[in-house]
Amino acid sequence: MQKIANYINGALIEPTSKQYIDNYNPSTGTVYSLCPDSDERDVELAYQAAEAAFEDWSNTPTEKRSRIMVRISELLERDIDKFAMAETIDQGKPLWLSKNGEMPRAISNIRFFGTAIEHFASEAHPMGNHAINYTLRTPIGVVGCISPWNLPLYLFTWKIAPAIAAGNCVVAKPSEVTPYTAYLLSEICMEAGLPAGVLNIVHGLGPKVGSALTVHPKIKAISFTGGTKTGAEIARVAAPMFKKLSLELGGKNPNIIFADCDFDKMLNETVRSSFLNQGEICLCGSRIFVERPIYDKFKAAFVEKVKSELVVGNPLDAKTKTGAIVSKMHFEKVLSYIELAKEEGGTILCGGHAVKPEGECANGWYIAPTIIEGLSYDCRTNQEEIFGPVVTITPFDTDEEALMMANSTEYGLASTIWTENLTRAHKMAAEIKAGIVWINCWLLRDLRTPFGGVKSSGVGREGGLEALRFFTEAKNVCVKL
Ligand code: NAD
Repeated sequence: MQKIANYINGALIEPTSKQYIDNYNPSTGTVYSLCPDSDERDVELAYQAAEAAFEDWSNTPTEKRSRIMVRISELLERDIDKFAMAETIDQGKPLWLSKNGEMPRAISNIRFFGTAIEHFASEAHPMGNHAINYTLRTPIGVVGCISPWNLPLYLFTWKIAPAIAAGNCVVAKPSEVTPYTAYLLSEICMEAGLPAGVLNIVHGLGPKVGSALTVHPKIKAISFTGGTKTGAEIARVAAPMFKKLSLELGGKNPNIIFADCDFDKMLNETVRSSFLNQGEICLCGSRIFVERPIYDKFKAAFVEKVKSELVVGNPLDAKTKTGAIVSKMHFEKVLSYIELAKEEGGTILCGGHAVKPEGECANGWYIAPTIIEGLSYDCRTNQEEIFGPVVTITPFDTDEEALMMANSTEYGLASTIWTENLTRAHKMAAEIKAGIVWINCWLLRDLRTPFGGVKSSGVGREGGLEALRFFTEAKNVCVKL
């Protein structure tokens, strides 16, 4: 059985405990590799390596840092088929999605920040002819990056790339549910000539490795993406230590559809925004609000399209649109929410059950894309994050009602608005409580834009300059002339 290794001080090594956790292929429900069960001793080793590398790396000219990072992205591109296959086996998403969506984005993340750092400048604030202030932006030191299982390499690189580009050294922890592509990335980093200790990857459980990173007194910043509850725990521990924190957390995103929208375009995108990656994208629109004049038309067309197009099954099969749910635990959680929706009075319009494909995938974890109607906006199904292929549809009559329902959850990550009325679109965008608003599109991403949520969806922003600013400390120098 393939054993994944930690990547510490430029070498692939086993965990100090010599213990491993089973790593499952969700499409077959079988263990296919072993993930290190690391602990605080491995985090300490990684910290020491990162600390030792910091002096050199932070003083390495940005051009050289950039060259190494671009080389990493090129090697990832060279091996895209291998990485895409590994991600699909580890995570359960369709292979076409790994190959055409996630891996290209991971490559872009590394290239984007690897080149952005060459253009990253700081400010000057002259005070007439008496004085000049200038801002020095220096790397923080050793930083921690913790990432989730839904877009494993995509979100892992989204954190580590700006951190190392800015001159920090990193101790990173990928999700123990999907560790494989981060492991493959360590091999690429070695081949690309990333100096030892600049990036260290410690695999293992959140309460062991993640919390060891959070409590470590010398790890000065934590960039975390994951669940809101975990984010709250990290904040509770890290805040009294005055660590810099970036928290990208859960969502319960509204998709507001007005009667004047471009119906066909909206329908195609709404199928995607509801069910892409089995609905396991923090940006998926899970609460769909539809203006009453087109509610029945939308319902019929949406259900028909989902039933006829979203083939559930083996992620390696080219015709599969909906792959496996990432783990047995998550599979059971999503199914339990479908039961809750029924108890709360919801009507299942399609899906609502597990799927058992024939052959080698018979024991994998599959759920049919599920559409539910008839629920109040404030019931638990409509308030809590499900993070699977489950959406609700609800009619509305006025802009105010749509906004009230959209803003009614504790979350505020992303939102989508479909209308051809420009004034209404801008007004809604201004009033919706979310960090991201898509108008007449979904998941259209420019890596320079600020990315993150409000309320319980997080604190801070990633992306572009926001990320480079997060991973640097600003120091103002005032010179009297
Ligand atoms: P999770 O919170 O369970 O785990 C995320 C990471 O945190 C994992 O690496 C895990 O091992 C680690 N962790 C767990 N307990 C920890 C602790 N006590 N201390 C430190 N680290 C710990 O989340 P998940 O189930 O892996 O991911 C799904 C969640 O992530 C969903 O809520 C989803 O909305 C969210 N998410 C948010 C975004 C965003 O950008 N806002 C993006 C993707 C996913």
